Amino acid sequence: MYGTMMNAPLTLALIIEHVNRIHGDKQIYTLLPNGNVHSYTYSDFYKRVNQLANSITALGIHIRDRVATYASNSYQHLEICCAIPYTGSIVHPLNVQLTPVQLEKIVSEADDKLIFVDGQLLESFMELQPKIDCQHVVLINMDADEDIPISRVISEYERFISKANDHYISDIKDENLSFGLCYTSGTSGEPKGVLYSHRSMFLHTLAVNQAEIFGISESDVVMPLVPMFHAFAWGLPYASMFVGADIVLSGSNREGIVDLIAEAGVTVAAGIPTVWKKLLPELHKRKKDIVTLQRLIVGGEAIQASFVETFENELGIEVRHAWGMTEMSPTGTFCTLRSEHENLSDFEKWKIKTMQGRPIPGVQIRLACDTDTDLPWDGNTIGEIQVKSPWTTSSYYKTVPTPEAFTPDGWFRTGDLATINTEGYMQIVDRAKSIIRSGGESISTVALENVLLNHHLVNNVVVIGIPSNEWGERPIAVVVLSQQIDEDCSEVLKRHLATEFPQFWIPDDFIIVDEIPKTGVGKTDKNAVFQMYARKHKP
Ligand code: AMP
Repeated sequence: MYGTMMNAPLTLALIIEHVNRIHGDKQIYTLLPNGNVHSYTYSDFYKRVNQLANSITALGIHIRDRVATYASNSYQHLEICCAIPYTGSIVHPLNVQLTPVQLEKIVSEADDKLIFVDGQLLESFMELQPKIDCQHVVLINMDADEDIPISRVISEYERFISKANDHYISDIKDENLSFGLCYTSGTSGEPKGVLYSHRSMFLHTLAVNQAEIFGISESDVVMPLVPMFHAFAWGLPYASMFVGADIVLSGSNREGIVDLIAEAGVTVAAGIPTVWKKLLPELHKRKKDIVTLQRLIVGGEAIQASFVETFENELGIEVRHAWGMTEMSPTGTFCTLRSEHENLSDFEKWKIKTMQGRPIPGVQIRLACDTDTDLPWDGNTIGEIQVKSPWTTSSYYKTVPTPEAFTPDGWFRTGDLATINTEGYMQIVDRAKSIIRSGGESISTVALENVLLNHHLVNNVVVIGIPSNEWGERPIAVVVLSQQIDEDCSEVLKRHLATEFPQFWIPDDFIIVDEIPKTGVGKTDKNAVFQMYARKHKP
């Protein structure tokens, strides 16, 4: 027998219609390219979302069509990330840090019909645009009268929406319809698409909006310093909207962030540790101006006890450490202290906060190895973290699920190696997959190795990640050459990689060796390589 409850679909409409009706006067702030701050209310935002929904419908964008964005975090980008799914089409924020070669493959696989491009990123988009065949381009953040040097431009954003009606009826009956598409860099180096559904986004929003997780409320002013292409800024904009918190968007301008925190009275901010470490000197200097900032949500890479100490002890800002993945919408675990930790010393508390924390309600995790899927939670046993949740993907876009990514009983294999203690706190110790995390971004060592092996100078190569104080990790390449040349071969190899990868992927060093150590079964022994060469480098 079924329950007697209404089967109301869990869609984005519930979020944006609610924020318009209940919190219509709350604000969205954006730091503009000229340094000014744009602000308007959720009611204004909602009207423009409706106009945009009408405009894209009139353009012939249909339900399930993909619509890409190539933009930084701004009010217009937020409007797009709501209007597209509101109509039933799928919003696809592109990672603006990838190269035209990588983006070409992604846009072609996604088959994006329309792309919204940030005028601030026009220069890099110019390289990409001849390679893609989106039928329509709309430019945001451009002067309406400016000459636009792109052949396929159909409009400038303000003109595109200005004549449209500000009333749109969203009628999505199936909550499992796709909402958005984000790509991740996979272990093989090929980015893989993850299709979030309305339902998964809605449930993730409810889950992270609990007191012990993001803990955002109506009185908060929330600043996600996370790009939209990272799982929709970790879901923070939707979470903030649903409770009626103000949102602060940093645009493409990295300079004025601390001013923005002070001016908008930000109370909760989020981003990868690398970003916060960079901002530290200014945060220290402006300590008196940022007294509103109570909480920092950090994730994407590991943090040290000294990081927690600096923020909590010196700046009085609580640190909440999260772990997750694009495949998990992205939140999987969250580190907050239990009541019995209250009596611990500060240092012990900071140490606990460096752990990735406990699964958030709704996420199941297990510790597995080749022979066992139920390794003990004793704080010592290391296994692969496998997960299940209503907001974890069960396959990749246009790809058949493989045993490397999914277990036969339907768990997602994260590739992260961890221990879990008796209290359920997870601690990542390593990664099974060959990914380097640099400044919160993934760099695939396998992809770098494959492209290097294609060069006639390279006989064998292994790329490893070495610790870096500034970036978390940086890649270095250990190379066996096939022949000697007069030119500096690291420069030759750097140029070769630059044709395929963004600058931050290029290894910091190329160490030329006669032989690469092998394991007993003849595979490259990355551990031995690390032991031999990583020590030479200062973090
Ligand atoms: P992405 O899909 O780009 O978000 O990358 C997900 C990967 O980032 C995870 O599988 C982890 O390897 C890493 N990661 C995310 N959060 C953390 C964290 N708090 N500590 C250590 N590694 C993390």
